[in-house]
Amino acid sequence: RARKRFGQNFLVDGNVIDRIVGAINPQPGELLVEIGPGKGALTARLADKAEHLRVIELDRDLVPWLKVQFEKHPDFELFQADALKFDFTTLMNDEQSLRIVGNLPYNISTPLIFHLLSYAGQVKDMHFMLQKEVVKRMAAGPGEKAYGRLGIMVQYDCQVEPLFEVPPGAFDPAPKVDSAVVRLTPHARRPFTATNRKTLSQLVNVAFQQRRKTLRNALKNLVEPEQLDQLPVDASLRPEALSLEDYVRLANAIDTLNSAS
Ligand code: SAM
Repeated sequence: RARKRFGQNFLVDGNVIDRIVGAINPQPGELLVEIGPGKGALTARLADKAEHLRVIELDRDLVPWLKVQFEKHPDFELFQADALKFDFTTLMNDEQSLRIVGNLPYNISTPLIFHLLSYAGQVKDMHFMLQKEVVKRMAAGPGEKAYGRLGIMVQYDCQVEPLFEVPPGAFDPAPKVDSAVVRLTPHARRPFTATNRKTLSQLVNVAFQQRRKTLRNALKNLVEPEQLDQLPVDASLRPEALSLEDYVRLANAIDTLNSAS
């Protein structure tokens, strides 16, 4: 039986599984990591193509069965662990960058993605099944309703490509929401670099906590009032009007002011 607590909605539509594996298109020699293999719906098709396969599953009741199912694979390893706390550097080696995939438990998808972004430098790409709304937020740009912290921080680290939508009927049990598959490809070179990623993250956080208010309101928390004029932005704008580049420039200006004072 599927466990709600673990966000278990198992994929049962073979076409959807094929499309995901087709999008990933594993190549010889690559190291694939699946988060939340569940009963192995996706894992089984990945295992046919992936030479090196690691899976991380929290539900210990699924572990014995998964182990038996994949014991013949030439290089398969299962970690019974919480992916939110998992140290992905333990899977990394010098030759390969990781390819991460997961039909994620929707209740933890946002914190999990933030956790994974911290490894972006050693990751080739990530393919996730997510709530459609979450994919929209990841891909959204300035002026869009879905634009906010998630999109800005994901786009800072990765190129975001929404691939296709998946209806509730592709899962058992069917979730209440529509889903979508997205590809995240960490930038080889970031288009814009923040001197301090933490400042960027804090800035975006406070800005979108009150997305209906002007930036001035958020910036008051980060610099002295008299420094507001020295920032490279019109503080009467709303947070949603600024691009990622604007936010990076602003974060860097805040760092410069704070290190001078
Ligand atoms: N990949 C399977 C499929 O497509 O049928 C299962 C997907 S199901 C939506 C999510 C899976 O993630 C479940 O097997 C669940 O037990 C597992 N899971 C939930 N929380 C987890 C966590 N924190 N770390 C690792 N796995 C987790």
